[in-house]
Amino acid sequence: MSKRKIYNIEEWAGKTVGNFTITGNTRTIGTNKTWECQCSCGNIVWKRASEIMLGKYTCCSNCVVISSYENSGPRNHHWKGGRFIPQTYITKLCLNRKSKKLPIDIDVEYLESIWTGYCSLSGLPIAINDTASVDRINSSVGYLKGNVQWVHKVINRMKMDLPEEEFNFFCTAVAQRGKERRGGNCL
Ligand SMILES: [Zn+2]
Repeated sequence: MSKRKIYNIEEWAGKTVGNFTITGNTRTIGTNKTWECQCSCGNIVWKRASEIMLGKYTCCSNCVVISSYENSGPRNHHWKGGRFIPQTYITKLCLNRKSKKLPIDIDVEYLESIWTGYCSLSGLPIAINDTASVDRINSSVGYLKGNVQWVHKVINRMKMDLPEEEFNFFCTAVAQRGKERRGGNCL
């Protein structure tokens, strides 16, 4: 008799547990089966399958923080922003851009429409109000629709105003050299 499959992702994919939607992507870390979940705020998290099935976690850590400060979430009537991206992302772009000449023609609705939960350049998971940052694809142009992407804030800091190709070139060189220095071992 075959052992019953407990962590049957096919049965769970697409289902929701609290604020989480189980995407169906899985990873095994050591002996732990982990599942990718998308929180209703847009954040992507990986949790142990057993903990999701038991309902131990029902939203991401950001939402825990937000709900504990009732006044800062989208459900509050003072909330300014879209479904899950706060207006502060646009306000900060207006305040922080180096040249006031750079036009800004995007809004939170647009930022939400291009949100995937992952950094466009590195593929790393990113979180709103934490590691997520808005990057201009062509930095000689402003924050316009089609010219912005979500990236990890560290990646954004490293990229500065470099064109993507040049940034990739330097990243590859660093990774290659790092591999050589470690005697050919990746990471
Ligand atoms: Zn969340």
